[in-house]
Amino acid sequence: MTLSRRSLMAGAAILAASGRARAAADADVVVIGAGAAGLAAAAAIRRGGHSVVVLEARDRIGGRAFTDTSLGTGRSFDAGGQYVHWAERNPWREIARAARVRTSDDATSPWPVLVKDGVRASEAERRQRRAGFGRVSSLLDHPAAPDRSVADAVAGEDEAARAAATGLTRLTLGEEPDRVSTADYDQLWSGDDIWVDGYGALVAGHYADLPVRLGTPATAIDWRGPGVAVETPRGTLRAACAVVTVPVGVLAAGHLRFTPDLPAATAEALDGLRMGAYTKIGLALDPGRLPGQDLRDAVILRSGTPGLTAYLEMQPFGKPLAVLHCGGDGARALCEAGQGGALAAATDHLVSVFGSGIRPAVTAGRLAAWWTDPFARGSYSIARPGHLSAREALRLPVADRIFLAGEAAAGGGAMTVGGATLDGERAAADVLKRLGS
Ligand SMILES: Cc1cc2nc3c(=O)[nH]c(=O)nc-3n(C[C@H](O)[C@H](O)[C@H](O)COP(=O)(O)OP(=O)(O)OC[C@H]3O[C@@H](n4cnc5c(N)ncnc54)[C@H](O)[C@@H]3O)c2cc1C
Repeated sequence: MTLSRRSLMAGAAILAASGRARAAADADVVVIGAGAAGLAAAAAIRRGGHSVVVLEARDRIGGRAFTDTSLGTGRSFDAGGQYVHWAERNPWREIARAARVRTSDDATSPWPVLVKDGVRASEAERRQRRAGFGRVSSLLDHPAAPDRSVADAVAGEDEAARAAATGLTRLTLGEEPDRVSTADYDQLWSGDDIWVDGYGALVAGHYADLPVRLGTPATAIDWRGPGVAVETPRGTLRAACAVVTVPVGVLAAGHLRFTPDLPAATAEALDGLRMGAYTKIGLALDPGRLPGQDLRDAVILRSGTPGLTAYLEMQPFGKPLAVLHCGGDGARALCEAGQGGALAAATDHLVSVFGSGIRPAVTAGRLAAWWTDPFARGSYSIARPGHLSAREALRLPVADRIFLAGEAAAGGGAMTVGGATLDGERAAADVLKRLGS
């Protein structure tokens, strides 16, 4: 690897000041995690004229933006991020356009169809559901202080509103309503949502030329010296600073040790955030065995039958595929059950909507088990009630050499690919300032 003058100087500084650091710095900056945040940070740091190495535990880049092709390329689906949220200000809208990726701008946008006990819901049932959602959105729009959970905010409401609140938090946040802060929910950005055919592939392709060391998990960061020493099973890397973008669930699990421990303010911020369990299960369908009705691009919500809160995305972009989306504790149980149990549950769900005639059409399936994934530990960060400031506190640099970044620190852009990208760029700007660029 070629060292820049800056990296040699950073290495020399570390050598002079720390007996623990015996080798020159390997790069100006080590970025931990090659998801949207880490990749965006690394690209910006490199543009700023500094050397950077990205460490990634998996054997691929993209993190929770991942287009799964295991059911065949004609049945690819986004196991993680899929919608370009608040597209008006999201950089991925333009990137998708420039890369000529299919989006819902050129395909028919999905429109939810409500199915109750196997048949299309009546107009009265749909109206009742809409009223529930309307009531919940008015309660969650600029909610009253002090901060409380979504469940507490709807506690005095009717059944339709409480059911809507549960559906909303499980299916948009992947979490139960009693664990979601209304103030944090309110600060999330809103806007147009664009549906991308291969968001994960788009992210990976966009950043394909960055220096990433795959299959190299960081296990410990020693920040006692003026720089950082990052331990991996393949050796220790030294740099002036580290950008840490692993999900907060991974940090909470203690799989990345810090010496000394992270400061109390950072630990407290981490304690204010938990990981939700938004989960998807892809089912490959045999087009020849599908029921006669046109199900292309349909999004089907089921109500009336007890069990998993879930919706089905049917034949997205016309592909012979159904994707079950679910969240909350029911989704956690499916991840813990593993692929076999989850596929059986997803197939049963499909049958409960379309009847048993559809069962033979399911030929294979894939569980995206983010909740039990050791490098994600959940789908995305959820602020606990009373912890609105946690995301901002996470962005405070630690001793000017550890910069936490990612969706969890993305404020109004939290829980999204776009937010992670912008926050990676924000962390890179902090790093460049620290390095004197
Ligand atoms: C099911 C699901 C649906 C979603 N839907 C949407 C959506 O429609 N739209 C949207 O915008 N967002 C969506 N998201 C959220 C979005 O995918 C994430 O917010 C975003 O991708 C997070 O990016 P990140 O860089 O912060 O973290 P990550 O993408 O998780 O990147 C962190 C990286 O760190 C790596 N890592 C972990 N531990 C270590 C270690 N010790 N050493 C080195 N590397 C390590 C991980 O492997 C990972 O690659 C969804 C997520 C899920 C799970």
